[in-house]
Amino acid sequence: AIRFENVVKKFGDHTVLDDLNFDVQRGERVTLIGPSGSGKTTILRLVMTLEHLTGGYMFVDGEPLTHMEVNGRRVERRSKDVARTTQKIGMVFQQFNLFPNMSVLENITEAPVHVLGRSQDQARARGLELLDQVGLADKADEHPTRLSGGQQQRVAIARALAMDPEILLLDEVTSALDPELVGEVLGVLRDVAKSTDITMLIVTHEMQFAQDVSHRVLMFDGGSIVEEASPDVMFTAPENERTRAFLQAVL
Ligand code: ATP
Repeated sequence: AIRFENVVKKFGDHTVLDDLNFDVQRGERVTLIGPSGSGKTTILRLVMTLEHLTGGYMFVDGEPLTHMEVNGRRVERRSKDVARTTQKIGMVFQQFNLFPNMSVLENITEAPVHVLGRSQDQARARGLELLDQVGLADKADEHPTRLSGGQQQRVAIARALAMDPEILLLDEVTSALDPELVGEVLGVLRDVAKSTDITMLIVTHEMQFAQDVSHRVLMFDGGSIVEEASPDVMFTAPENERTRAFLQAVL
């Protein structure tokens, strides 16, 4: 589970997140929607500890993600403990970020071997299984640069899953793809959503996908949540004026 408590994030004088509070329960799939620049990506980067909090608290399974003040007392976290927490979290980025100098299978086995201490054989067996799951069993020995964007993104999904994450963060994973490649990536993610109980926090502009896989949708604007609803309500009968305007513009 992920918890945001009074989270503030500023870049210089620019307040991106303003006193943000929300929870994602274990096994829940929550999608963040909202206009460009509303801070959705920043939220995922905070969870991934790629950004630091300006204020407030963030917890994963009840453990603080970073150093913080609690009731005036400073709580230090050792980097080892932070690593143990962040290891539970996988992320797939808009730009696939595959290692270009490794084969597809090596991309997937690198972290399980070097971070989790799995044997090469074990990591390769699991990697091939995951490649099969994303429909790329025949590409194991290819170099990523020879794959289409959609195939590269499916490798990135397999790579994230190879770490057995409890939480998966998806940051606009189809935004960099040609339109005809979007479907294959969303298809793989629909399967992952249906066949696992991984907690997911999703940022996407694909509203049909959001409606299909989410348990809950949060609409962001101006650094805060302006509406929170089930996908059925959010996409058919939103209450907030800004949600309606946003959905009218994108649907
Ligand atoms: P998009 O859909 O365009 O990705 P978003 O809702 O994900 O939008 P963020 O990427 O989280 O928005 O950005 C929120 C705001 O924070 C934007 O105004 C952006 O310019 C600003 N911002 C993000 N990262 C930085 C940074 N490293 N330094 C300065 N400003 C930043």
